Order: sequence, then C-alpha cells, then structure tokens
Amino acid sequence: MDETPKHSLAYWLVSILLLLLVLGLAVQAYFMYTLSQKLNIVNQNNASTTDALTTLSSTTISRFEENEKKFVQFSDMLYEEQQVTVALTDAVDKFKRQVGKLTGTVDTLEKLTTTDPELLQKYSRIYFLNEHYKPADLSLIEEKFDYVNGKEVTISSEVLPFLSDLLEEAEDDGVDLIVLSGYRSFTEQGTLKNVYTTNYGVGANRFSADQGYSEHQLGTAVDFTSTSIGENLSQFEHSEAHTWLLQNAHKYGFVMSYPENNEYYMYEPWHWRFVGTKLARYLDREAKNFYDIEQREIDTYITSLFD
Ligand SMILES: [Zn+2]
Repeated sequence: MDETPKHSLAYWLVSILLLLLVLGLAVQAYFMYTLSQKLNIVNQNNASTTDALTTLSSTTISRFEENEKKFVQFSDMLYEEQQVTVALTDAVDKFKRQVGKLTGTVDTLEKLTTTDPELLQKYSRIYFLNEHYKPADLSLIEEKFDYVNGKEVTISSEVLPFLSDLLEEAEDDGVDLIVLSGYRSFTEQGTLKNVYTTNYGVGANRFSADQGYSEHQLGTAVDFTSTSIGENLSQFEHSEAHTWLLQNAHKYGFVMSYPENNEYYMYEPWHWRFVGTKLARYLDREAKNFYDIEQREIDTYITSLFD
C-alpha cells in the first residue's frame, strides 16, 4: 500500500514561512550589496572632489603668491621711478637757480657796461667832465613844470620818469614846485660863468661852477624853484617847496648836492642831483651828504642807479 505521506497543515505552513524567510534574506542581501556599491561610488566621488578642491586651492594660493610678488616688484619699480623723478626735479631746480644767478650776474654786468659811470662821480678841482661830455639821451620836462614857458628845459631821459613822479607828487600835495633849469652844456655853463664873473668878480666862484665842474652838464641835476620865487633863488631856502624836498626828494632818488657848510660850493638849497633811489634813501637814513662819502662806496650803487 502506497502510503502517501500525509503532511499536516503545520508542515506546509512552516515550509512556506521558511521559504519566505530565505527569500527575504536574499532580497535583503541584494539590497545591502547594492547599497554598499553605491556608497563606494559616493566615497570615490568625494575623494576625487576633495582632490580637485585641494589642487584648485593650491593653484589659487600659488597664483596669489605670484601676484603678490609681482605687486612688490611693481611697487619697488614705482618707488625707484619716484626717486629718479625727485632727483631729476632737484637737478632741474638747481639748474634753474644757477641759470637765475647767471642771469643776475649778466644783468649786473650789462648794467655796469651800459650805465654811465660819470653819473655817480663826485666833481672837484681834480676830477671834472670833459668838454665833449653829453648825456646819452635828453628829454623835455613837461611844460607845466617849467618856470619859463617856451624855454626848453631838458634832463637825462633815464632820470625824467623819477623827476616827473617827484613833481606830480608835490603837485598832489599842493606844493608849488617847478624847475628853473636842468641840463646845461659845457658851452652854456661857460657863458653863464662869464656873466656871473662879469657881475660878481671872483665871488662868482662861490656859487657858479667852472666849465666842466658843473653837475648840470651831466643832465641829472636840476635847480628847483616855485612860481612865486622864480629866479630869486635866495628865497628858496624858506619856501614850502624846499621843506617838501627835504622830506620827500630822496624817495625819487634826488639829493641836495651842496648843503649848508659843505666844502665845495656855497649852500645851494635849490640844486638837487639824481643819484638813484637806493643811494638817496641810504644818505637820507644815515643823514650823510653825497660829497662826504668815499667815491668807491658811491660806485657800488652804479648798477642800481635806475632801479
Ligand atoms: Zn644848479
């Protein structure tokens, strides 16, 4: 008798459960494997990303360092260039100063060669003007400042602006100041002296210079007067015009040649000579007379005569 084994329900149930368990384990194992594979890939990816980042950052740093070096080099170059510029500017300044000094020297030399040394000479019995001496250029004094209308009064063209300023200033101050005479030639001076000598004899020597001794021949000396005084020069000393001249003439470069008690001529309060503003101011400040200082001291003012 074929005995068919009879399996109980429990047997089948257990068998199915076991089968399911085995299947479940297999599925789980498969998933675990797949997951681990994926994790590996992710890890590998991560590693390469980190490598890439490391490489990138090191490249960046080296580039940055390179740029920094370049910047330092550039700054150094710039600094050197600045130093060169400073040195160049200094050199140019120095050169300019030297040129300036040279120009100044040339100006002084030019003035020395073009300014007539006679214009600051003291005239005495030993030193006098040549009969042929004539100022380089003469100009007419403005007519309103002439004593005699129509009679031409001339003066050195270089002195004229100073004299005009003086006369204008006096006029502005309400002072009656005009010019009686200016330039006189050697011949004119001789004729004048002869007239005086005829009238006054040897006494004329006291107030009239001989030919060649007169400052009027220089063209830089003038005899001032007032409209009310005219040719009566003896009255000039007490005039308002004279007081004004004593206070102001030096500002325009004029000095009184023959003050009281001088050793050359009689007192001539009307006779003023142009010696330049620098020397005139110096004489006024020191209360000195032109004829009382040494010729070599006077000569130092020749280059600034018309300044
Ligand atoms: Zn005079």
